[in-house]
Amino acid sequence: MTDVKLIIGQRLFAPLDKQAFRLLGSRGENRLERRVWDAHADVLWRIAAERVDFYGSTSSLAAGWHRLVQGGVKVLGFPLFVPPDRPAAEGWNMLLTQAASFHDRIVGDGERVRPLLYREDVALAEKSQTIYGLLCLEGCSALEGSVERLSLCMHLGVRVVGLTWNEANELADGVGEPRGGGLTALGRRFVREVWQRSGVVDVAHLGEAAFWDVLREARGPVVCTHAGIKAVWPHRRNLSDGQLKALAELGGVLGIAFVPAFLGPKGGLDDLLRHIEHALEVAGDRHVAFGSDFDGTDEVLEGMETAAQYPALERALNARFGEETARRLLWDNWRDLFDQALAPGPSGT
Ligand SMILES: [Zn+2]
Repeated sequence: MTDVKLIIGQRLFAPLDKQAFRLLGSRGENRLERRVWDAHADVLWRIAAERVDFYGSTSSLAAGWHRLVQGGVKVLGFPLFVPPDRPAAEGWNMLLTQAASFHDRIVGDGERVRPLLYREDVALAEKSQTIYGLLCLEGCSALEGSVERLSLCMHLGVRVVGLTWNEANELADGVGEPRGGGLTALGRRFVREVWQRSGVVDVAHLGEAAFWDVLREARGPVVCTHAGIKAVWPHRRNLSDGQLKALAELGGVLGIAFVPAFLGPKGGLDDLLRHIEHALEVAGDRHVAFGSDFDGTDEVLEGMETAAQYPALERALNARFGEETARRLLWDNWRDLFDQALAPGPSGT
């Protein structure tokens, strides 16, 4: 059973797909053709903080279900996020509540959203109408240095682990910690644990010394789910050309975020395209993708306010970089990374 699924993972059925897409296209309705993989949107945090409804047609979520469907988003990263000012005990509870909300309120009966857990799910996400949710940890402070809690999170479906938010914790210094420390011994243990369990380490929010430590340590996939390019706009959350090049050389992917503060003075689509252009020059077209940070910031990018606007971005990417590169940015690069990174599912599933 697993072997059959692995063949599907190698896209044996791609020609069939193309034909199906063409047929759909001839009827003037080719929504299937658009596939977007967005690695980071703070939906769970907004549900926890404001009790907003993910499925409601009038949902205020920039990455609510209707908008994801309109935008052709097939995979969305759902980070678990606890603000650093919460007391430690409260943090772990908040994190578990968000994980429960992902499984109960977002996935529910699995009709409209399913968790992306195994390699086979990557191929399924490419073919089905269902949206797949990729559970992530945006910082491990709520884990209070416990490897058992990390293990539990991965059993709950987390597949992408960022060690810190902007602050420092038991594992590493985030980008907002002036001390600028790297990985602690426990941080090293955490990243090894993540890779051993076929997870992906996320360096978004890490301070630069910790970033390089993770890359030196790397025995598995490393990504940066949501950031911009420092050479284009010098925000502390953006990656330098050296960082981006090293990440790409390791096979990693950078998800460019739609956060005006990361992108530049005008904070519009033009700024976003400048970041993409530079990232493509430095990293090549296999290591750049998107991690919007929808619902994670108060300020929104003009022209890319919600996930429903991905078709407009796709048109802009097609025009500027060509259709093949646009497809890589919107789907293929994350797909290829997770297709390799994730473990096959238990046989018989
Ligand atoms: Zn973030």
